[in-house]
Amino acid sequence: MKKKQFKTESKKLLDMMINSIYTHKEIFLRELISNASDAIDKLYFRSLTDTNINIGREDYAIWLKIDRDARTLTISDNGCGMSADELETNLGTIAKSGSFDFKRDNESAEDVDIIGQFGVGFYSAFMVADKITVRTKQYGADVANIWESEGVDGYRIGECDKESFGTEIVLHIKPDTDDEKYSQYLDEHRITSLVKKYSDYIRYPIKMELTRRKPKDGSEGEYEEYTEIETLNSMVPIWKKSQTEVTDEEYNEFYKEKFFDFEAPIKVITQKSEGTATYTALLFLPAHTPFNYYTKDYEKGLELYSSGVMIMEKCADLLPDYFGFVRGIVDSSDLSLNISREMLQHDRQLKVIAKAVEKKIKTELEKMLKADREGYESFFNAFGLQLKYGIYSDYGIHKDTLKDLVLFRSSNGKLITLKEYTEAMREEQNEIYYAAGETVEKIEMLPQVDSVKSKGYEILYLTDDVDEFALRVLGSYDGKEFKNVTADAVDLSSEDEKNAEKEKNDSSADLLEYMKEAIGKVSSVKFTTALNNHTVCLSSEGELSVEMEKILKKMPGAEGAAPKASVVLEINLNHPIAAKLSELYESDKEKLSKYAKLLYAQACLISGVAIDDPKELTELMTELMI
Ligand code: ADP
Repeated sequence: MKKKQFKTESKKLLDMMINSIYTHKEIFLRELISNASDAIDKLYFRSLTDTNINIGREDYAIWLKIDRDARTLTISDNGCGMSADELETNLGTIAKSGSFDFKRDNESAEDVDIIGQFGVGFYSAFMVADKITVRTKQYGADVANIWESEGVDGYRIGECDKESFGTEIVLHIKPDTDDEKYSQYLDEHRITSLVKKYSDYIRYPIKMELTRRKPKDGSEGEYEEYTEIETLNSMVPIWKKSQTEVTDEEYNEFYKEKFFDFEAPIKVITQKSEGTATYTALLFLPAHTPFNYYTKDYEKGLELYSSGVMIMEKCADLLPDYFGFVRGIVDSSDLSLNISREMLQHDRQLKVIAKAVEKKIKTELEKMLKADREGYESFFNAFGLQLKYGIYSDYGIHKDTLKDLVLFRSSNGKLITLKEYTEAMREEQNEIYYAAGETVEKIEMLPQVDSVKSKGYEILYLTDDVDEFALRVLGSYDGKEFKNVTADAVDLSSEDEKNAEKEKNDSSADLLEYMKEAIGKVSSVKFTTALNNHTVCLSSEGELSVEMEKILKKMPGAEGAAPKASVVLEINLNHPIAAKLSELYESDKEKLSKYAKLLYAQACLISGVAIDDPKELTELMTELMI
């Protein structure tokens, strides 16, 4: 046998396992049984198309064996086995999907966290074993391979004898210590109950030879022992059980293990359908956003089974993009086992199922919104952005599905639905007001927001880039149009104020035109009465708002090419600055130009618009000081 070293990462992980103070060491059994089941899946799956593989489905099994004298626990399967190369790559390196940050020190508290959070596969066996021997043989291969290790010092690898195909893992259980009774893993009852607890739904039988006692023939009170082979798991997949048979904890455990999440789901959804499509679905809403969720690495999809046998790990066609965060399983007897991916895409039955699943998710989200507001808000914080993208994407064809599921921050501090907004609208109010900005704080600084709020109206605060685009796609809700309070169409002034405004703007047309030319970046300058105590603000005319322009500018490749908003500089008519400007127009036009630029810069600052020429601005300011 050849001696080899573990890769650095594997070594650290191993070290963590060996010295672990993790209290749920028992999970090692679940990990090994799952690996065995996956290996059988692989071979079974292959056998569907490879006529050289002749194994009846009923012949697949996982075996557990306890040898108390040798202190070993053996887990074997008749799955796909591993070639010498596979053995080396699979067990010599650890490549857990992005879950480990090996930069942290081996602090035990954090180790516990990692083990608990991610479940760590094969290496977890080192929590209970001080030596592990793996013998494995691929179906149809001539040679078998052995892998053996006592931990961090490395492993040995070579050829060995093994009659049957599949994999056999022998765990040499650690001696008991004061803190830890490792011998429990050599106890039949303990192992039996662990299988029930974690691996009951495994679809292949987990068999073990159990010791039984029976009264001895002819002699009263005396017993004799005999052994019997039993299947320990019920093999009914968890999604096939009725919801009343399964505890919340079992669902949570299943979810965490299956979808590599450290947190229990925020909601479990079960569905059984026997109409146009016969299927069972078990769906989960994760409690938090996966780290790669909003990247192209994230793959949406549900696991697809045909009568309990997996046919696809991530069937993307079962979920619309906007519900892409849902994890889970769909099992249908309507689908053929041998169906190819290409055919599946066009399968009518699959489309029917996808539609029904989508409807179910929507209904469940609506229910949650009604019955569990806190839970819904926490869900929304994790995935709400996706729903808002859903409204905006595909030219808005899904907007009606999603419009009642989205929440927005409101000026009264709460997250609210559009329905809640319209229901609370004042009698004379005909429009839904919103304002957009990077943060709530910045939005609240906008002069127009201050003004509309002070008149007693509620405003939706849009802080996500997609928000305003989504509202534009919606256009209106319940017959009420959306109005950006920083777009000039919103005018809540009284008739008198409007008249005063018009008069002043008409009589100052030359002044305003002069200022516009001096600034050179706005489509108009005007006086307004809608600004409370603020001096100036920016607003926009036409389709594109100032905030939308900012967002479009940020898009990759948009530099310079992004469409521009028609920006209006509004000046508070009731502020002393108004009179000052009129005065300067008569006495000192050069100074007026400078003031115009300064006022525009102020308006930009308060709207969070980048100043194009900070040098000019600082010079103008300094000039004022000296
Ligand atoms: P994971 O199962 O998450 O990939 P593990 O560390 O548990 O990680 O296992 C590493 C790899 O070793 C598996 O992906 C699989 O390819 C292989 N493996 C483990 N156990 C078995 C087994 N019983 N039969 C065949 N291959 C196995």
